[in-house]
Formats: sequence, structure tokens, C-alpha cells
Amino acid sequence: MRERTTSDMSLIASKFESIAPSQTLAITAAAKQMQDEGQDITSFGAGEPDFDTPQHVKDACIEALLEGKTKYTAATGIPELKEAIKEKLYLENGLEYETNQISVNCGAKHSCYNAILACCDPEDEVIIPAPYWTSYPEMVRLAGAEPYFVETKRENGWKLTPEELEGAMSGRTRMLILNSPNNPTGAVYSEKELKALVEVCYEEEIIILSDEIYEKLIYNGKKHFSTAAISDAAREITITINGFSKVYSMTGWRLGYTAAPEEIAGAIAKIQSHTTSNPTSFAQYGAVAALKGDQSIISDMVEEYDMRRQYMMSRFSKINNIEIVEPEGAFYFLVDTSKMGLSSMNLTEKLLSRYKVAAVPGIAFGYDNSVRFSYATSLDVIKNGLDRFEEFCHAH
Ligand SMILES: *Cc1c(COP(=O)(O)O)cnc(C)c1O
Repeated sequence: MRERTTSDMSLIASKFESIAPSQTLAITAAAKQMQDEGQDITSFGAGEPDFDTPQHVKDACIEALLEGKTKYTAATGIPELKEAIKEKLYLENGLEYETNQISVNCGAKHSCYNAILACCDPEDEVIIPAPYWTSYPEMVRLAGAEPYFVETKRENGWKLTPEELEGAMSGRTRMLILNSPNNPTGAVYSEKELKALVEVCYEEEIIILSDEIYEKLIYNGKKHFSTAAISDAAREITITINGFSKVYSMTGWRLGYTAAPEEIAGAIAKIQSHTTSNPTSFAQYGAVAALKGDQSIISDMVEEYDMRRQYMMSRFSKINNIEIVEPEGAFYFLVDTSKMGLSSMNLTEKLLSRYKVAAVPGIAFGYDNSVRFSYATSLDVIKNGLDRFEEFCHAH
């Protein structure tokens, strides 16, 4: 055996050198620890709804448990759920898929990772418009591919333009990640805007990953368009991802789903059959109830989010040294703090330690001159937190 010293030995794969832990989770953890120590922390860090899972969804899950639905299911999900998803996509999104094109995954986060893994070879480039959801670049790197960032502009409502997309293409471009309604910007792409992007991608033979997890959290009378529903061409190149976490307040259930061209769906089924196997059996029965049950619970939640959103909008617009674009979807504000001249880590650390306000540093989303405020928290918390944030802004 060759001789070596223990210090030479690397215990982890080299790809982890470029992979950072999730910063959105880090700040919420720090805030929670301060809270546990008895400090009065106001948190805008939440990346999940503050509502409980609807009762009928819980009941369906409990019933499944009691009935003994506790064994392996088909790796890509139970037929009842896939049928319910198929019907939902047809009726609500104008998307016709066969059951074998649909898979249920362990959260939409898992759906995204599966899709990237299924399509990308090492050296392939994946275009990610920034600001982006914090996990996309790391998923791409874990899959061995490379993220390519395109900075979108505040003047354009943080939306990628076809010209920017064309400018970002290289011979290695394989995929574009689109997320509308968007986390962290709240941007919602119109049908026309999506169509223009689809045309570029189709022409250049680029796959589109369309993350539509915030589909129903949408305001100002805006309408959500599924990228794949734009045209037949769009459907040929688009992977549609959606889930239960945000719209049905089911983050802990770990259920998302993917609808994709048959070849891609087949690859995803293979990945899942050899890694996770099925998403939790009884949780899937809850998801069937979520899709088939009363949908008015969603409009109640949306109404509440919208009230908070409008309140925050009115507060933010009165603060001088920040800039915002009105978010039209999801439950976040991306506050542009360029005028303060502080790095987002520095800013959020000060905000937390001195003003006891937790928010997520923009560097986690690839735009360092910003901070993300979630309004998935009560109006009282929001009022109190914005009083403190206003003080902070006046002092900087
Ligand atoms: C929350 C979130 C997801 C993942 O949700 P799951 O809990 O994994 O279903 C995916 N994409 C975006 C943009 C999100 O904000």
C-alpha cells in the first residue's frame, strides 16, 4: 500500500468545493436561536406559508395511514395522485399530458434537481436569470453542469428579456430555468413575455425548466401562464414543475410533481426508482385531497397575503434610500439596497443584531445589493418589523 498522511486524504467529493449551504436557511436558523434565547426578534425570513395545512388534507392522510397505506408505492407516485395532477394540468393550465409523463417527487425542490440531473451532462451550461432561487445554481453544480447567470434589470421588473437570453447563449447551453411567479422578486411573466423566451429556446434547442410552485399566489388580477402551454413547440422543450408546499401550506409533506416530454419523464422515473423511490405513501393521499377538495381555502390565503403585500408596499415606498418593484406573485419583496452601499451580509447582520429584524441577504439570490422580506407572517409582525427597518434605513 502507498504511504500517505491522513491530512492528504479528502473525505468529500471535489464538486463540494464549489457548493455553499443554503443561506436562506442559515439566517432563519440564526434568528430562531436568538428567539429561543428570549430576544424579541421580528423575522421576515420565512420561506414557507404561515398557514396550517387544510384540515381535509390532513384527514385524508390520516385515513390513508389508518387504512394501512404504509407500503412502497410506484416510484413515481400513486395512480390516483397522478390522475389528479393530469386533470389539474389540463383544466387549469391547458396542458395535455399522458400519465407516464407525470411523476410525483419528494418536494418541488427534488423535482427541479431530478429534471436537471435527467437533462444535463457535465460541461453543459444552464442559464439562470438572477436574482434567482438560491438552490438552482447548487443543483446544477451537483449535477456536474455549470450555471451561467444573467443579471435581470430592476427597470424590466426583474424579468429576463429575449435579447438578454440570446446574449447568454453559448454552444454549451443546455437549459434555461424560469420561475414565475418568482422567488425572490415576485415577478410574474406575461404570456407574451414567455412566448418570446420560448421562441429563442426552441430555435436554439434549449430545454426550459419552468418552476411554477407559486402559481396561485398571484395579485393585481394578474394571470399565471404555464410555459409549456404557450405553444406545441413550448411543450416539446419544457419541463413543468409544481407542488403542494406553497399553495396548500404543505412544506413539511415533501411533495412536488413534474410533467415533461416522455423521454425526460422516463429518465426521471429511473433516477427516482434508484434513489428516493416513492414519495411518502400516506402523504400522497393528502395531496389527492388537496387537488380534489375545496379550493376556496386558497383564495382566502391569497386575500390575506395580498393585504400584507399592499401594506408593505405602502411602507416601503415611503422609505428614501431603498427601491422596490411591486411584486405581483409569491410572498416576497426584494428590496434594492444599492443606495446604502453595504454588502447584503453586512446589512442583514446589522439589521439582526442591532434592530432584531431578520431578513435574507440578497447574495443568496445572486444580487448582493438587496434584501428579501417575506410576508408569510402576521400583519402585526410585519408592522413591528417595518418600524424597525425604517429606523435602520434612516440611520444608514
Ligand atoms: C419553495 C420553493 C420550491 C420548493 O418547494 P418544495 O417544498 O420542495 O416543494 C421550489 N422552487 C421555488 C422557487 C421555491 O421557492
